[in-house]
Amino acid sequence: MLKPSKIALSAPQLDANSVAEITRAIEGNWITAGGPFVTKFENSLQEVLGTKRDIVALNSGTSALHLALILAGVEAGDSVLCQTMTYVATANPIAYLGAKPIFIDSENETYNMCPQVLENAIELLIEKGEEPKAIIVVHSYGIPAKIQRIAKIAKKHKITLIEDAAEALGSKVNEQYCGLFGDYGILSFNGNKIITAGGGGALICKKTKDAVEARHLASQAKVSASGFEHDSVGYNYIMPGINAALGIAQLKTLNERVDAKRKIHKFYTEIFAELDEVNLFKVSDIELYSNYWLNVIQFKESALKNPEGLRVYMEKLEIESRFLWKPLHLQGIYSNQKYFGNTTAVDFWKQSLCLPSGTGMTADELDRIKDALIAYFSN
Ligand SMILES: *Cc1c(COP(=O)(O)O)cnc(C)c1O
Repeated sequence: MLKPSKIALSAPQLDANSVAEITRAIEGNWITAGGPFVTKFENSLQEVLGTKRDIVALNSGTSALHLALILAGVEAGDSVLCQTMTYVATANPIAYLGAKPIFIDSENETYNMCPQVLENAIELLIEKGEEPKAIIVVHSYGIPAKIQRIAKIAKKHKITLIEDAAEALGSKVNEQYCGLFGDYGILSFNGNKIITAGGGGALICKKTKDAVEARHLASQAKVSASGFEHDSVGYNYIMPGINAALGIAQLKTLNERVDAKRKIHKFYTEIFAELDEVNLFKVSDIELYSNYWLNVIQFKESALKNPEGLRVYMEKLEIESRFLWKPLHLQGIYSNQKYFGNTTAVDFWKQSLCLPSGTGMTADELDRIKDALIAYFSN
């Protein structure tokens, strides 16, 4: 028998329009950093997000986080509060600057940073004279965090808020897009994100002067157009035109993608309504509108099955699934840093699995997934 084709966790989905737009960039010779395609991509992002905030297109989400921290004034030795349940790229730029990440646990409603733990941490740190410089909150797996409460806490304590919306393009809180709540928001257009530019990121700035400074730092801090004068140590972080071209084409499909992701979420909702060993990560649509970038299931304490069992079972059927991010405070590289919280994020990590959520999946592939899940849980 022929082996079935592999179902990936979330494969990039390119269309004819993507090819056409990249061809235009190549024909116009706008392939390298900056230029009209990059400007057009930035303008399209503003339009899609319905914002007047300045948006700077960069070569990765990680660069966007790095610049946000620099603009927030984070320096060596400073403390930065960071969600523990996230991809390692969220925290690494804190380390680039020689600053100290202080990790914060999740809560059970949005699976993201717990506002209560955050506030307790801030108060304790202030008491010790270790006032945090910034907070990085993440909308993990596309599910919006309790960003409005966290923004209030940040404002009360006058701490810069950075919103890592790398996975959450198209997600909203009370009708406002994720990425627009903080002093800075960051997006990623890496290969497996909801839309891709091949690679790339964006920095959303509340203040125009920050966007101006971000562009300056991202282009080697070059002062004059004609000469090679640089007024600080800058970076090579501007998005290349060829990536922007792909981003422009992909962005046109964002609404369809979000709808498709949410349909996949509904597909899993229906399957797991019948299977009581697991809970599907979900939030109420009333306030929190998720793009459901990846679907996550958490095995209940009482479950007879486990995430590794399901992962191996599906792997044999050529269906990819993946564990959650290992909480950052448990990573060897960050295990000496402070952590506030309990075991909420650790429990998610130990008991959960990400299921295939690519918008390019066919009806046949969805059937294969459904059959595999039902078979695994019923024997
Ligand atoms: C992907 C991702 C990033 C980093 O984006 P890159 O474009 O890959 O550098 C940062 N944070 C989170 C939560 C991500 O998922």
